[in-house]
Amino acid sequence: MVPALRLNNDVRMPVLGFGVYQIPDGEVERAVHTAFEAGYRAVDTATLYANERGVGAAVRASGLPREELFVTTKLWNTEHGHDRALRAFDTSLAELRLDYVDLYLIHWPQPGQDRYVETWRALEKILADGRARAIGVSNFQIPHLRRLLAETEVVPAVNQVELHPHLQQAELRGFHEKHGIVTEAWRPLGLGPDLFGTEVIQTVARKHGRTPAQVVLRWHLEMGHAVIPKSVTPRRIAENIDLFDFELDSQDIAGIATLEQGRRLGPDPDRLG
Ligand code: NAD
Repeated sequence: MVPALRLNNDVRMPVLGFGVYQIPDGEVERAVHTAFEAGYRAVDTATLYANERGVGAAVRASGLPREELFVTTKLWNTEHGHDRALRAFDTSLAELRLDYVDLYLIHWPQPGQDRYVETWRALEKILADGRARAIGVSNFQIPHLRRLLAETEVVPAVNQVELHPHLQQAELRGFHEKHGIVTEAWRPLGLGPDLFGTEVIQTVARKHGRTPAQVVLRWHLEMGHAVIPKSVTPRRIAENIDLFDFELDSQDIAGIATLEQGRRLGPDPDRLG
């Protein structure tokens, strides 16, 4: 139901996954179950979210073949460094109770620690050992990516960054495209009501008979981004995957381009850590 993108090592990743940030471990199994029922096959968690255990339980309880599912988790900021990163990955796999993850990401570059190159070499080892099918980064800016490209072997498959119509990240997306890195959007719905209420989004939503959230998510897909919207509400979980029977036209895309404000809702990756 959900089309796949081909990563730079030929692994296929669904263009749309289910984000589980801020879903408590005790509730996440049910939420992921609802998402699987609605047709999602990818889940995006992280050590930070403290719900890897519930995500792994949902994967095992789903009855779906493991190879049809795509599980992403991330290394937290306190675990930078080669050996620490290897141990952090072991802990994530143990929490998930899985033999491998599909994608392992460095959550933030933490330039103040200046250890992301070392950390990346640990991820290269995890990849070589077959314990992650692909490796990537999150919240990396162009200079951080340039260093990885210059000093290490494996090009990140994905950079997961804050991205929505109020922060369109044109320069970073151009860099990704040039180097075969998939752009994945976190906080894809931006500020929600604030964005949904804009005249541009309202007009496009009316034109296609869709909700504002669907218009924004469809915009991401038209731009070539992978998306990982989050909700715990079954109706919204279903709404957020019901995107594959309509398209935006060039006029819609041009309208949404005007919403760019360079407005970050989350931390600035250059300043965090
Ligand atoms: P989001 O854009 O997915 O959702 C924001 C809010 O919008 C949700 O809390 C929900 O209340 C609301 N919403 C969801 N569907 C809706 C709908 N159909 N209609 C109206 N409102 C709706 O934001 P997010 O959860 O911050 O980001 C998505 C995922 O990205 C996270 O769950 C997490 O997996 C990932 N993430 C990664 C990072 C990172 O640093 N790598 C940071 C934040 C989030």
